[in-house]
Amino acid sequence: MKIYFKTFGCRTNIYDTEFMKSSLKEHDVVEDESLADVIVINSCTVTNGADSDVRNYINRTQRKGKKVFLTGCGAISKGEELFKDKKVFGVFGMSKKADINRFLEQKSEFIELGNLTSRDENIVTSYENHTKAFIKIQEGCDFRCSYCIIPLVRGNARSQDENGIINEAKNLVKNGFNELVLTGTNIGSYGKDTNTTLGKLLQKLGAINGLKRVRLGSLEPSQIDESFKEILDEPWLEKHLHIALQHTSQKMLSIMHRRNRALKDIELFNELSQMGFALGTDFIVGHPGESEAVWDEAVENFKKFPLTHIHAFVYSKRDGTLSADMRVEVDGKTAKERLKLLQNIVSLNNFEFRKRHYNVLSVLVEQKSGEFYTGFDQFYNKIQIKSDKNLKNRWIEIGDYDVEFAGNFAEI
Ligand code: SF4
Repeated sequence: MKIYFKTFGCRTNIYDTEFMKSSLKEHDVVEDESLADVIVINSCTVTNGADSDVRNYINRTQRKGKKVFLTGCGAISKGEELFKDKKVFGVFGMSKKADINRFLEQKSEFIELGNLTSRDENIVTSYENHTKAFIKIQEGCDFRCSYCIIPLVRGNARSQDENGIINEAKNLVKNGFNELVLTGTNIGSYGKDTNTTLGKLLQKLGAINGLKRVRLGSLEPSQIDESFKEILDEPWLEKHLHIALQHTSQKMLSIMHRRNRALKDIELFNELSQMGFALGTDFIVGHPGESEAVWDEAVENFKKFPLTHIHAFVYSKRDGTLSADMRVEVDGKTAKERLKLLQNIVSLNNFEFRKRHYNVLSVLVEQKSGEFYTGFDQFYNKIQIKSDKNLKNRWIEIGDYDVEFAGNFAEI
């Protein structure tokens, strides 16, 4: 059979999809959806909008007469409903993904949601159409942020086996992936249940021969602990960290049931910035409770953060969460204006950072679009490169480049 995988959502889902592809025995993966006999949807359920995207996609594929399997976070939150409505042939929870061959042989419709406590084995050895590889190091989250459904569909935090992660990393490096991205639902909680820490795991990964760079998914401020600080000078660690704040008003952080504290976070960010790190964060604008006073406090604090990257988005309701029952005070237009303000502050910071840190850039070239190759440097800044040579998938050191507000540019 020909199988097409459709992946929605985050890097964890990208990893899970590669895991399923690596597990396939007798079937072929196709890159063109129209050629597929079966479509496996690895879904996302993070907002009501994400649910609609998945549902629309299912409707579209069903109209084309494809056999549809649903997995991922949406299988847990919406699987039963979609199954009862006969929208999908089979539903399986992510903990069951290693059984994909058995599911593909099923003659009758099925639903197997599995559990939210199991750990994966690390078996992915390659990534199609990627220059870097993702490694899942943990699953689930023990935090209970009021707007977030993820712990309910991914379960509590549990760490993957350390030897499995190291072996998977070694195999990926052997197969030509010199840049690894560690991913998971809440990667900073790695090791809490296995008596180790993310810092210790990173030390072991950094010792792998041939590994050039490790990038990290999102961390929480409280997870930058002593053992993590010990690896901050390592040459294989990217000079960029993404630390999720979600907001910079203390009042709002309490409403959101966040564990971070605005003023303490400012200290941490400044400490890391002085060590030469570019710093990114997530920020939710327009969550219930974001009154004018709360927003003013947030902006005043926000300006004190040396942020160079931001993933800001307007709050979107997720049924089944605490926040879904709270009253939204901010209209859409105001929320967008607030979002833009934050983005503008960070764009300017980023420009200043790039001018201040005019170093040799170590770039993994990922793709060519139009006349430019693009890749990311150690600070997670994108660079556009003009060249007659074929640079795709190559590591290059760039000492001579132009810093412009829109980005860095080089010709080699
Ligand atoms: S840290 Fe908060 S936002 Fe992130 S997955 Fe856990 S509960 Fe959700």
